[in-house]
Amino acid sequence: MISDALDRPLRNLRLSVTDRCNLRCEYCMPEDDYQWLPREDLLHFEEISSLVDLFVAEGVDRIRLTGGEPLLRRDLPKLMAMVAAKPGVNDLAMTTNGILLADQIDALAAAGLRRITVSLDTLRADRFKALTRSDELPRVHEGMQAAKRVFPGRFKIDTVVIKGVNDDELADLIEYGKSVGAEVRFIEYMDVGGATKWSWDHVLSRAEIVALLSKRYGAVTPIVEHSSAPADRYRLPDGTVFGIISSTTQPFCSRCDRSRLTADGMWYLCLYAATGLDLRAALRGGVNSDQIAAMIRGAWMARDDRGAEQRLALGERRAFVPIKALKKDPHLEMHTRGG
Ligand code: SAM
Repeated sequence: MISDALDRPLRNLRLSVTDRCNLRCEYCMPEDDYQWLPREDLLHFEEISSLVDLFVAEGVDRIRLTGGEPLLRRDLPKLMAMVAAKPGVNDLAMTTNGILLADQIDALAAAGLRRITVSLDTLRADRFKALTRSDELPRVHEGMQAAKRVFPGRFKIDTVVIKGVNDDELADLIEYGKSVGAEVRFIEYMDVGGATKWSWDHVLSRAEIVALLSKRYGAVTPIVEHSSAPADRYRLPDGTVFGIISSTTQPFCSRCDRSRLTADGMWYLCLYAATGLDLRAALRGGVNSDQIAAMIRGAWMARDDRGAEQRLALGERRAFVPIKALKKDPHLEMHTRGG
C-alpha cells in the first residue's frame, strides 16, 4: 500500500459513472444550464475496469459508485459485476438519489453491490420540489423501501443540512431512518464546486446539529472509533446511531484516503483540487499499464492536499468556484467529480 506526503494511504476510490443527474439540488446544481461531458470522452466499462485493476494493485480496496446520478448510466449492473469480481475489492458501495433505485436494486445486489447510501434532505413534498426541482419524492420512498429489503444493516441515508431550509427536520429524518432501518448521516453544507449559492449563513455546524438533537432526545453520546470514514457517529438515549460529516467546520483531511475518478477518466486527489490527472488520455494514448501505474503512484505519493482545511483557514469565505469558471471547466463541479 502506498502513502501520500502526509502519510495517508490510497484506499478509497469513488468512481463517478456519469456527470448527469435527474435532480437539480439547490446546493449542487442550482444553475439553469450545464455543459455535459462529451459522450465520446466517457470511459467504457472495459476502460474503467482496467483502471480499477491498477488502483487495486496500488492498495485501493474500497470502491463507491457515484455521479451525477449513477443509476442513469446504462447497464450499471454490468459494471458493478466487473468491479465486484476483482479479488482486491473488499467493499463495494453506491451513492444514489434513490429515484431509479427500486427498479435496479435487485440486479445491482446480484451483481455484487454490498452497501448503499441514499441521499434525502427532506420528507416534505413541497420542500423536495423546491430543493430539487423534481416531483419524484414518492419514487425515492420506493427506493428506500427497496433498500430496506435488500440491504438491511448496510443502508445509510445522507442528508445535507441547510440552515433555514431543512434544519427543522433532523429528528423527523432520524425517525424516518429508523422506520427503514437506515443510519442517517447529516452532512454540513459544503462550499464545493457547483455550490454557487453557498454562504456561511446557511451552514448548520456539527455543534449546532448535536445541540438541536440533544434538545429533542436528551443526551447525545459520541461513539469513539478509529476509522477513515468521514462521519463522526453518535448514539441517542434509545440506542439509535447517527452520523455527522462536518467537512465544513471540522474537516477530516488528516485521515482522508479517498480520491475520485470522473466518468471521463480524470483523477482528482481532493474534492477541492483545481487540477486532476488525465488517465483517459494516457489509456487511449497507448501508455502501457506499468506506466499508468507509475503515474498513479507518483501522483499519490506527492499528494499533500488539505482542501477543506485550507478553506476553513480562510475564515471569510464565499462560493469556492465562480460560475464563469464552472462554465468553462465542468470538472470543477461536484456532480462531475463524484460526490
Ligand atoms: N446523485 C447521487 C446522490 O444524490 O447521492 C450521487 C452524487 S451526489 C453529488 C453525492 C452527495 O453529495 C449527495 O449526498 C449530495 O447531497 C452531496 N452534496 C452535493 N453538493 C453538496 C454540498 N454543497 N454540500 C454537501 N454535500 C453535497
